[in-house]
Amino acid sequence: MSEQSKEAIPRPAGAGRPLTGSRTAQVTDHGGGVHSIKVPIPDNPLGHTLVHVLDTDRGPVLIDTGWDDPEAWDTLGAGLAAVGTEMAEIHGVVITHHHPDHHGLSGQVREASGAWIAMHAADTAIVRRTRESEPGRWLTYLAAKLTAVGAPEEHLAPLRAAVADGGRVRTLPGSRAALPDREIVPGELLGLAGRRLRAIWTPGHTPGHVCLHLEEEHPGNLPGRGRLFSGDHLLPGISPHIGLYEDPDDATATDPLGDYLDSLERIGRLGAAEVLPAHQYAFTDAAGRVRELLGHHEERLTGLLGLLAEPLTPWELAERMEWNRPWEQIPHGSRNIAVSEAEAHLRRLVKLGRAEAVPGSEPVTYLAV
Ligand SMILES: [Zn+2]
Ligand SMILES: [Zn+2]
Repeated sequence: MSEQSKEAIPRPAGAGRPLTGSRTAQVTDHGGGVHSIKVPIPDNPLGHTLVHVLDTDRGPVLIDTGWDDPEAWDTLGAGLAAVGTEMAEIHGVVITHHHPDHHGLSGQVREASGAWIAMHAADTAIVRRTRESEPGRWLTYLAAKLTAVGAPEEHLAPLRAAVADGGRVRTLPGSRAALPDREIVPGELLGLAGRRLRAIWTPGHTPGHVCLHLEEEHPGNLPGRGRLFSGDHLLPGISPHIGLYEDPDDATATDPLGDYLDSLERIGRLGAAEVLPAHQYAFTDAAGRVRELLGHHEERLTGLLGLLAEPLTPWELAERMEWNRPWEQIPHGSRNIAVSEAEAHLRRLVKLGRAEAVPGSEPVTYLAV
């Protein structure tokens, strides 16, 4: 999901020219055949997804599509009209990652237009798994995992009840997400007629997140190398959620935070003249923002080491970490996301040799080395 910690107050878009002509759609012309449409996300503090429209010689290509919701669908349609095209004209859909605020409407766009949908294989695997898996299997995994990290009984009880009630579990989000029909291959051009759009694999927020580098002169001649569609990887005022990849079928001890930090450095070295993110607003100085985020994570890891002066379970660590609101006010589902983030940080510290699991502890506790 798209639960994210807010770290700065979003500012209005500083780059680009707002288009008039549609009251419901907020569309920005970024120049050089690139527009963005603000597609609302219902009941979410993020507010909206910026769906980008990239003109190609074969028709417009969307980068992300928005949340599966009637108002979002209407806004996307109105935005396309304001740009001078329509849903039926969409040639292709490039998805930065599988989250529902990015991939939610892809299936409807494909139905209305016959467009292809492209995604990195690692995220396509998640879409496939989510479509095919029984809701009960996910709940069983979650309950076992939360028990292992030291979640208290009052948190586990509703999950156990849902597992016991297996036959009546409601469908999980993402169960009707569209299966992509093209693979985004890292390092390769996407093969869009008349454009140079290169995929850069940036795992961390999800295992198959990609940024897309438009390797063309900046239309406003800003210094640097082209423009970067950054999805959720690099946002101007928000640090994206980094949790575990949470694959019930894979027990590999992945290191998503390590992946994310590596991906950030890679993006910082690109030297893009402008970043077009999927939330908030377009910005310049990608390298500066990368440095800020790297510094933020370094500071956070150091802070956690302080907390780990005494042995803590991942759950206890999550309770003591700083969130955008006090722990008592964090709802049940978001606590699962928070503890996943705590675990991702523990994985990193263990990998760096700065913390280790206390032998024989159950549920497992961790201690700074
Ligand atoms: Zn996301
Ligand atoms: Zn998002």
